[in-house]
Amino acid sequence: MAEVSDNKVLKQVFVYVTLDIDDPRLLTLQKLLLAYKVQWSEDRWDEYTDEEYEAARLIVVQALSENHIVGGPRFYTEYDLSNACPACGAGMRQTGTYWIDGAGPQTVRLGQFRAVSSYSEILVDQPLAETLARANLSGLSLRSVYAYQPDEAPIELIWRQLWASHTLPPMSPRSTGIDFDSACKSCRRGKIDSTSPERFAYRAKDVEGAQDVNRMWEHFGYVRWNGDLKTAVLWQPYFVVTPKVWRIFRDAGVTGFQWLPIRVVEDE
Ligand SMILES: [Zn+2]
Repeated sequence: MAEVSDNKVLKQVFVYVTLDIDDPRLLTLQKLLLAYKVQWSEDRWDEYTDEEYEAARLIVVQALSENHIVGGPRFYTEYDLSNACPACGAGMRQTGTYWIDGAGPQTVRLGQFRAVSSYSEILVDQPLAETLARANLSGLSLRSVYAYQPDEAPIELIWRQLWASHTLPPMSPRSTGIDFDSACKSCRRGKIDSTSPERFAYRAKDVEGAQDVNRMWEHFGYVRWNGDLKTAVLWQPYFVVTPKVWRIFRDAGVTGFQWLPIRVVEDE
């Protein structure tokens, strides 16, 4: 599958090609790109069947960029920093309701999606929140969401923030696509980079206490942290859920998320 977009300002043409890893044309394409000195980047990911999701012990939920909403500490969401790493902020705990940027251009996404993400927080619309609440999912509660607009009264939205009471232990080092060396030197928990495809593994004993809805221990990706919440950008840990939760999101027609079944490995 190829898609072309012509950007006249930069005098560049972007071409997106999606091929199966076993497709012999992949090697041919790579050779041609090298021969013609074309710049390219590769993104690899796994695709799973519904049967594989149903059989998974737990599933990592990753948001795609298309449904991202700006919010968090810069918009008056409050956090407890007593257990936060001074170097990267990992371990900060949200104490108040979640605030989004009510004046930002992404706010329109609230009308386009059933569920949106905000630095790995997940916000769901009212009908989906009600479905989740009725499903009696362990480890899950739902919290209010407010929109911040400068010089105007705060607006409480009908959206709800997913809240998990349980944090899983650190993942198994047998996970692949995870750059463990990139982790914050102080806490080993934050600033972790990944390469595609990511394959998360957990030790069998570490998923024994898992609930239907959990958070990962690790924090991935970009961090802006100097101790001041008013300028902080800190991605929260991914949600890790049971197939029961995946099924509810699938049946609600939710898009904008990538679902990655974990592998359970023996202790080492
Ligand atoms: Zn740290």
